[in-house]
Amino acid sequence: MASMVEKLLELQDRDRQILHGIRESEDIPKKKQVIESELEKYKDGLGQAQEKLKANQASIKAVELEINTLREKVAKLRQQQLELKTNKEFQAMEGEVLGLGSQIKAAEDRAIELMEKVEEIETEIAERRVQLKTEEARIGGDLTVLDGRLQTILDEVARAKDSRETLAGEIDPAWLSRYDRIFRNKGDYAIVGIEHRVCGGCHMKLPPHVIQDVKKADGIVTCDFCGRILYTKDG
Ligand SMILES: [Zn+2]
Repeated sequence: MASMVEKLLELQDRDRQILHGIRESEDIPKKKQVIESELEKYKDGLGQAQEKLKANQASIKAVELEINTLREKVAKLRQQQLELKTNKEFQAMEGEVLGLGSQIKAAEDRAIELMEKVEEIETEIAERRVQLKTEEARIGGDLTVLDGRLQTILDEVARAKDSRETLAGEIDPAWLSRYDRIFRNKGDYAIVGIEHRVCGGCHMKLPPHVIQDVKKADGIVTCDFCGRILYTKDG
């Protein structure tokens, strides 16, 4: 009996190792996703800065076009001025030319502002590129560690499964099937020790006759409260 308990405890160790290994291995893809989404934030930041630059450059083109159009208008007026007969007509047109001149000045100021902004955005893009590279390296390292960890877990699980199979072959099939059913059902322990008259699984106080039965040890005794197999550490 004692050796059967020992074997079941050893089997349970393997089963717990397998269970934890599988749980941890299932967590790894989620962890990788979280890490990869961090990188997306940096990529998005760079993409947004690049879009901002494009928009700015488009604005510069529009302003330049506007300046050209205004200059052409001025040139046309100057041409027309040459053909005017009276000084009065000439003065009226001069006023129009001056108005266009201040429009050109304003557009040129806007173009300068936009160009200064381009420099700012280009600096931002360069900084974001460096940041992204740094993060890519860091995150790449983290992902490699996780992949390595996953491989280690899978190896450990495979070894634990082999060892479990060998152990299971040495256990009475009736004990084994009851143990298996309880382990599946509880998901943590199927066989637990009695400590201070208390079930090691559910921590309920056990009736004296149950403890006596466990000590007699001529069969499987389970806890009335949680259904786990009981054993005593003192025999
Ligand atoms: Zn119990």
